[in-house]
Amino acid sequence: MNNFIIKNAKYLVTVNTKNEILTGATIVVTDGKIAAINPPNLPDYEVFDGSSHLIAPGLINTHTHLAMALLRGWAEGVNLDGFLERVWAAEGAIMDGETSALGTELGAGEALLSGTTTTLDMYLNPAQTHKAAVQVGLRHIAGPIFFDFPGLDGLEWPERIAFGEKWPAIHREIGGAFTPLFFMPHSVYTDSEEHLIEIAVLAKKHGARIHLHVSETEAENKQSHEMHGRTPTKVLLDAGILDAPTTYGHGVHLSDEDISISIKAGASVGHCPGSNLKLGSGIADLKKYQDLGLITGLGTDGCSSSNDLDMWSVLRLAAHMVALKHSPVDVDLVKIFRAATIDGAKAVGLEDRIGSIEVGKEADLIAIDLSALHLTPVHNVLALLVFAAGRSDVSDVWVAGNRVVRNRSLVNVDVADLKARIDIRMKVLEELK
Ligand SMILES: [Zn+2]
Repeated sequence: MNNFIIKNAKYLVTVNTKNEILTGATIVVTDGKIAAINPPNLPDYEVFDGSSHLIAPGLINTHTHLAMALLRGWAEGVNLDGFLERVWAAEGAIMDGETSALGTELGAGEALLSGTTTTLDMYLNPAQTHKAAVQVGLRHIAGPIFFDFPGLDGLEWPERIAFGEKWPAIHREIGGAFTPLFFMPHSVYTDSEEHLIEIAVLAKKHGARIHLHVSETEAENKQSHEMHGRTPTKVLLDAGILDAPTTYGHGVHLSDEDISISIKAGASVGHCPGSNLKLGSGIADLKKYQDLGLITGLGTDGCSSSNDLDMWSVLRLAAHMVALKHSPVDVDLVKIFRAATIDGAKAVGLEDRIGSIEVGKEADLIAIDLSALHLTPVHNVLALLVFAAGRSDVSDVWVAGNRVVRNRSLVNVDVADLKARIDIRMKVLEELK
């Protein structure tokens, strides 16, 4: 079970503490974990020939809404306010539990095919979405979502809290690759301070982490100042939210004080350069966050604002934004690639299990086929990964040692059947167009 060997990898990008890139390396995976790298003797396991591949840790998407893959291209030419208005109308029309699961199946499949092995996914109906993503084979971090208002799932506040109490048992029962417990209040602008305090208590009781949108736009900060007289980060601090390890979606407009509060609290950022550029939300200062020690992963956001779940374009944009905000000399490819892997793992509390290729870690691995002309020649492995490689180059993917993509095909999904089910469901949206 989950035993295999990747033999003679042309490049092995470890993302270990020394950022070693090995050539001609062999990895032995036993029971889903990396048992050895370049051992003198090999066990009798199935062999993946890595001689024309680059092997890297699976990418970690630290902020997304997978089910919104169904709304790809639905809200164009709008800012965040216009976006939310248009998307929430569509979600109200279709996103019941079954459709949330359908969209998550689509998003999880897209993520895995592009080499993303872990997602921090905030969405409605998490029991259904989590089950769907686990079946596809993704390491899927989900959790109850909290809004003050009944919202699209129709839950009143006491029902949200009651569901939060039940979530640890539901999460355990669904199983799949290990993920930490999370609670996900949507944001400071949709959750009152009293309600945030309740969630902080709930998180403490269950030892859960927290994920929410924080300072995505200047308008959000302005509203927070008007309503609370403080930045969103300070509201979170005062509500006790930051007592739990918290991952901010976006975190574009953090003040110096917000940054130091966040570092002290062990909070982290899921930086979404593609979504932030598309919605004109601003440029998060990745280099500054990294230099100061604010843990920062990368994310796509949902497909209605980023149109795809492509972490390769996110890597590229993250690097371009550093060049634009600072200078090309400041683009540190090691740090950019770490943001998509080990720093993403730290941002979601999984750094002991994933994010690098080291003995004892779980085998969340991707194989990149180096045969394409656009990957030829290889002068700089990290420049290849950040600036040249794309999702079509990802040929094989393993999550916790399970092969979930084999030769560019999903192992656990009948793609034709999935597309047919999506076509049927999307007919409802036609009336809203
Ligand atoms: Zn978001």
